Amino acid sequence: MLELRFTRRFSMGHRLIGGASESCALPHGHNEFVRVRLVANDRRPLDGHGNMVVSFERAKGRWHRFVDERLDHALQLSDADPLLGWFRAHEPERAARIVVTPGDPTTELMCCLLWSKLSAILHDDGDLLRCAELSIEETPTNAVSVTAEGADALLPCRDGWWMRADMSIS
Ligand SMILES: [Zn+2]
Repeated sequence: MLELRFTRRFSMGHRLIGGASESCALPHGHNEFVRVRLVANDRRPLDGHGNMVVSFERAKGRWHRFVDERLDHALQLSDADPLLGWFRAHEPERAARIVVTPGDPTTELMCCLLWSKLSAILHDDGDLLRCAELSIEETPTNAVSVTAEGADALLPCRDGWWMRADMSIS
């Protein structure tokens, strides 16, 4: 099976208020890598001319624009976080740049949401590729990954920006 792998780095901020750990409850940030494994839906042979399933630009262009323009330097907050209400009331333009998640924006949840977002984008782009695995490296020693077999079932909710093939984050 032919597989394409792409990695993108981004910086983010978040806090976790669900009680996972007191050290994560204050806003802080990480420099993360998001890695994806894409496989071709079409099993035909390479054509003997261009010899590509899809150009790299088409395979990763929209996805990396989403990472660069929407995830990078964004704050990730739970939809239950009172900070969200504060930003909406006092700094609405900045509130629009907050990634809002159903519950705490853990790396586990972000893997599932980003897998869903990327899958929606790939579907919208003609279903040439599908995402077999998406992983987020939160620190050089911590990473989480989801595979296509499990990601869908892990989604806590199916109504949100992660279901849409656009640049929305809330
Ligand atoms: Zn953190």
